Amino acid sequence: MARTCDAVVIGAGIIGASVAFELAKRGYVTLSVDRLPAAGYGPTGNSCAIVRSHYSSREGVAMAYESYFYWADWEEHLGVADELGMARFEDSGVVITKSATGHWRKSVEHYRQLGVAFEEWDAQELARRCPLYDVGTFHPPKRPDDPAFRDPPLAPLEGAVFTPQAGFVVDPQLATHNVQRAAEAAGGEFLFRSEVIAIRERHGRVAGVELADGTAIDAPVVVNVAGPHSAIVNRMAGVEDDMRVTTRALRHEVHHVPAPPGSDFGRHGITTSDGDLGIYFRPEGADHILVGSEDPECDPREWVDDPDSFDRSITERQWEAQVFRLARRIPTLPIPYARRGVVDLYDVSDDWIPIYDASSLPGYYMAIGSSGNQFKTAPVAGHLMGELIDRVEHGQDHDDQPVSVRCRHTGLALDAGFYSRRREIVATSSFSVMG
Ligand SMILES: Cc1cc2nc3c(=O)[nH]c(=O)nc-3n(C[C@H](O)[C@H](O)[C@H](O)COP(=O)(O)OP(=O)(O)OC[C@H]3O[C@@H](n4cnc5c(N)ncnc54)[C@H](O)[C@@H]3O)c2cc1C
Repeated sequence: MARTCDAVVIGAGIIGASVAFELAKRGYVTLSVDRLPAAGYGPTGNSCAIVRSHYSSREGVAMAYESYFYWADWEEHLGVADELGMARFEDSGVVITKSATGHWRKSVEHYRQLGVAFEEWDAQELARRCPLYDVGTFHPPKRPDDPAFRDPPLAPLEGAVFTPQAGFVVDPQLATHNVQRAAEAAGGEFLFRSEVIAIRERHGRVAGVELADGTAIDAPVVVNVAGPHSAIVNRMAGVEDDMRVTTRALRHEVHHVPAPPGSDFGRHGITTSDGDLGIYFRPEGADHILVGSEDPECDPREWVDDPDSFDRSITERQWEAQVFRLARRIPTLPIPYARRGVVDLYDVSDDWIPIYDASSLPGYYMAIGSSGNQFKTAPVAGHLMGELIDRVEHGQDHDDQPVSVRCRHTGLALDAGFYSRRREIVATSSFSVMG
């Protein structure tokens, strides 16, 4: 006999769990299905989980700023106690270097319009607040084998922009488990080690899913939150022809290095987005630093056709690119012989802006294309998808009359139409992890 529920959510990453939670709160009996053994075991678990407001678009900044208030009061948002404990938000603040990419200017413009608190620092102030930093400019980002890589900086940075309401979540997998527990408390169910292999249809509308073990699940609503497998799941649903924006998997390395001995970066360092060098970095544990790439043009992009088969080892070429760049900003950085870090996949859309939308198949929805930058926004994405699905299921034609969602904390309006699968590529995007 087929199982029945109101909504199947494919994927139990941080966004998938948040969508399930918000639907369950709205009275839907949800079933979250994930092929992995637990919530947040996919890319979410390897996320740097940085919570920062700088995005290139008004919607991006509004969503990210709103998300800060959820993370800052996580228990209040979820309203449950998890037996594993609650994920901790580290209020480190975030500094963006004023790089020649100019992306920071777009963010500052949106900060002013949306009321995001920020401070502008000149290079001297940056040196005072971040005493480990060389505040010279190294732009444009280069590969370590470029003869100019080791050139001394010719000028100081123009400065930096600091947002105090920002930081990172210490344990992204635990955070996802927390959301699972909240969704369960609201009536949702989770099924692990279960792979969706087909989307079922009846009379031109979604009718549920089929699992690899042959189980059929009946549901009038199915939501694709499958991360780097999103395109595969869309193909099962046959909805790709109607989409102007598509998604594909991109390999990404994050490296883990010791902070300079005797420094307090691990405890008091400021999370930094350094477009001048093409990297981002943040404190990790008591005395380490995580460093990731902001996808500068000189770094080849490693697109992955099969998300079940990619190289999970840290490569010497990317380790050197990211860690040596970090050593330009922090000249006292000790560079260890052993390479440590994580390798995982981003689910990247054509313009690096997510798709939060319905589809050409009634009852089938997508929260995909998170492009390496939507951990932070997951609670807001859950709210947005909950509203969108509920209103479309009650008759609103979202393609003609895009759903607008009111943010719970900031009161800002979010136009869900911005995330449409049918949008024109957003030309002002950074086309990188910055969104
Ligand atoms: C290395 C790295 C660093 C990052 N750093 C940051 C950061 O600092 N800040 C930030 O905001 N964002 C960051 N991100 C992005 C962020 O982590 C993701 O946007 C977010 O975690 C995506 O969550 P998700 O719910 O879409 O799913 P994912 O975590 O991608 O999970 C998708 C789930 O779907 C399941 N699934 C797929 N196909 C099927 C199927 N057919 N049947 C059943 N289950 C299926 C998978 O098993 C998986 O568990 C980073 C990402 C990576 C990889």
